[in-house]
Amino acid sequence: MSTAITAYVGLGSNLEQPRRQVERAVVRLDLLADCRVQAVSSLYRNPALQAPGVPAQPDFINAVAALETRLGPLALLDALLGIEAAQHRRRDGVRWGPRTLDLDLLLYGQMQVEEPRLQVPHPELARRPFVVHPLLEIAPGVRLPGAGALADAAAALGVDALERVGAVAGFEHRSLQEPA
Ligand code: ATP
Ligand code: CA
Ligand code: CA
Repeated sequence: MSTAITAYVGLGSNLEQPRRQVERAVVRLDLLADCRVQAVSSLYRNPALQAPGVPAQPDFINAVAALETRLGPLALLDALLGIEAAQHRRRDGVRWGPRTLDLDLLLYGQMQVEEPRLQVPHPELARRPFVVHPLLEIAPGVRLPGAGALADAAAALGVDALERVGAVAGFEHRSLQEPA
């Protein structure tokens, strides 16, 4: 068994009661073998990403969770895909289409992973306000391997469309002890 790592997982949903989808997924993350949810950001409402070929769709609910885990990065990715499947995520070929649940592995300690099916840090992390700001809320001092302090990435982004809509019930009081 490997030592425990703090990983950060981005959660998003814009179908079938998005807020409940995200809350259920947090519970499922906490129930994974060799994993424990250490902290969860507030829930945020965000307009869906717009790009050519991407259909207009409902707003997303997004959050970020800190997960203490003994799973390796690929095993953790498989666990995340398993939770998506349990919540009826369908992949129908439309990139960035609407979904019941999306779980992205944002950071895995300070490890950098370049595998065909896993890139960590998540390649879009620093460009997405709906990821950077919730992450900053629970891990203000965290560094992005190869890209400096998260706080600097946050300062470069706007917050205009980010609307805080509440906390994940049952997880309000978990907070991360950041290493000194
Ligand atoms: P984006 O990654 O731009 O947010 P998306 O979340 O909509 O897009 P998905 O369809 O959910 O993309 O994922 C496609 C594939 O991306 C997954 O099957 C997985 O193998 C791969 N992938 C690569 N890096 C990661 C990561 N850090 N977290 C989650 N999936 C990843
Ligand atoms: Ca995603
Ligand atoms: Ca994804």
